Amino acid sequence: MARPKTEEEIALMRENAILVSRTLAEVGKAVAPGVSTAKLNKVAEDFIRDNGAIPSFLGFEGFPAAICASVNDVVVHGFPSDYILKEGDIVTADIGTLYKGYNGDSAYTFPVGEVDAKTRKLLDVTKASLYKGIEAAVAGNRTGDIGYAVQSYVESFGFSVVRELEGHGIGREMHEAPGVPNYGRRGHGPRLIDGMTICIEPMVNAGSRSVYLDRNGWAVHTADRSNSAHYELTVVVRNGKAELLSTFDFIEKDGKINF
Ligand code: MG
Ligand code: MG
Repeated sequence: MARPKTEEEIALMRENAILVSRTLAEVGKAVAPGVSTAKLNKVAEDFIRDNGAIPSFLGFEGFPAAICASVNDVVVHGFPSDYILKEGDIVTADIGTLYKGYNGDSAYTFPVGEVDAKTRKLLDVTKASLYKGIEAAVAGNRTGDIGYAVQSYVESFGFSVVRELEGHGIGREMHEAPGVPNYGRRGHGPRLIDGMTICIEPMVNAGSRSVYLDRNGWAVHTADRSNSAHYELTVVVRNGKAELLSTFDFIEKDGKINF
């Protein structure tokens, strides 16, 4: 079971989470038709290093890049590449940083130019499901309460939740206990304790929930080639209401970046 963090640790993790959030926003500014996912990786890696942190995904179990860049039917763990984004694509940037001994980890699915209505809905529902999960991330609840909140919301729109991957505790390690599934039953799973730091990260498919592993051993694709979205935030479990550490405000507020 994950050890709840001290307020000193949480303060360091908050700094790191803000850096990840700002990095996501830098990537978001670069997303456009005609841009390669390798370019997004470079934007992120430069920004992370310029701010005194380390891109923690690079070299993690052999992962070859600073960020995961997952396009369209790729659910997670896409390799940045010379693939050129085109109008109507979606691309998820999943970013991890190591800073002062602690990990940060957040993800956002960006539309590339205009996307079709169903895809726009997929993005909106997936992001909203993350906030539903966060509402359930309060002390005394269990991980199954988070999973139930995400799953029931997503499925009410006819989309499906990927079950092979899940959220997680975070701290000195990128992935700590408990696992935080995006499906489940209320009242089941490990109990949430005040001061636990966890990443909640729904992965949602427009079609069936079935996925397969790319032959590169990393990228996870939807089996039916439907689009998949993924949003991730780091939160502190608190009594009454979770506290956000990372935020999408740098991406979304007033359409501009606020530092
Ligand atoms: Mg992540
Ligand atoms: Mg994560």
